[in-house]
Amino acid sequence: MYCKNCGAQLPDNATFCTECGAAQQPQQAQQPQQPQQPQYQQPYTPVVTGLNDTPILVTGILAVVLSELGIVGLILAIVNKKKVKEFLAQGGQLAGKAKVGKILGTVGLILSIFMIVYLVIMIGIAIAGIAGAASSGAFNY
Ligand SMILES: [Zn+2]
Repeated sequence: MYCKNCGAQLPDNATFCTECGAAQQPQQAQQPQQPQQPQYQQPYTPVVTGLNDTPILVTGILAVVLSELGIVGLILAIVNKKKVKEFLAQGGQLAGKAKVGKILGTVGLILSIFMIVYLVIMIGIAIAGIAGAASSGAFNY
């Protein structure tokens, strides 16, 4: 460093000039490094943005809406689960549309299974009814 007053060369850590005696500001380099403005760095996460999460939402909604058709809702719920799996495998994050779609898909799956059970019972009752009517009809003849 050089003296700010007389320009004499001084040791870098000098607090005063050996030539003129002027007090020296410690050099910038000698000071502990000022913490730099924290640079905005994206934390490294393998999250991929811009993936198409619409199929998850669409199949989720359809699974719920069509769950009253039983097997149709079930198929859509299974497609929904597959889309969610693919989305996550590609590094997608379950948020927003993808999250809502996944929840709807699960709801659709449950509703569809209930509807299938209900339909099976109804068909069972109907068959029993037909069989009963047929047998009673035979007796009445
Ligand atoms: Zn000096």
